[in-house]
Amino acid sequence: MRILIAEDDPALADGLTHALDQAGYAVDCATNGEQANLMLHDAVYDLAILDIGLPRLDGTEVLRRLRQRGSKTPILVLTARDAIEDRVLGLDLGADDYMTKPFNLVELEARVRALIRRGQLGSNMALMCGSLALDTSARRARCGELTLDISAREIGVLEVLMLRQGKVVNKEQIMEALCTWDEGLGNNAIEVYIHRLRKKLEMSGARIRTIRGLGYLLEEEKANAT
Ligand code: CA
Repeated sequence: MRILIAEDDPALADGLTHALDQAGYAVDCATNGEQANLMLHDAVYDLAILDIGLPRLDGTEVLRRLRQRGSKTPILVLTARDAIEDRVLGLDLGADDYMTKPFNLVELEARVRALIRRGQLGSNMALMCGSLALDTSARRARCGELTLDISAREIGVLEVLMLRQGKVVNKEQIMEALCTWDEGLGNNAIEVYIHRLRKKLEMSGARIRTIRGLGYLLEEEKANAT
């Protein structure tokens, strides 16, 4: 389970990192909003703890951009004690929960566990590319009315690609998303999944391109592409 902490107060960030690390999570830290935005863009997190008052890019803006990209990463927002409008804005923008500073670490850990569990139970998000639709909660892919015969791991790979449609996804990012199933999944395994997915997606209007030396990119096939 990977958690991103976006917090510019070093003492608080250290305390959170230590507590969550002890609780068995893999923790990354961002100290400003721009960095948080990039990290949320480049890696798949099971949860992000997001301070609203961040330098360079406000926490609410980080959240707004994340949801605009279609990401359902659970977000726990941290706000100052009296900033009620921040809380309301955060929830309006798609935060899943909030805590006001100062907070109790034990309570924060309990909220983190609950949010991650809820996130894993799945959101009802349908990702689309061409006539391909991926239901992320039912873990099923359809092409029009036809349900595609795709394995759970292939769905995992497809989900990562669909979440970052039009962008290059490297093998490490795919492995990270699958690591809950496969410890030490090899490069070859990813190539096999991609190969199978390509065959199964042939009629879907979605195409997986290999970007040599970088990774893969999912895009909608243009009817008149040359
Ligand atoms: Ca702050």
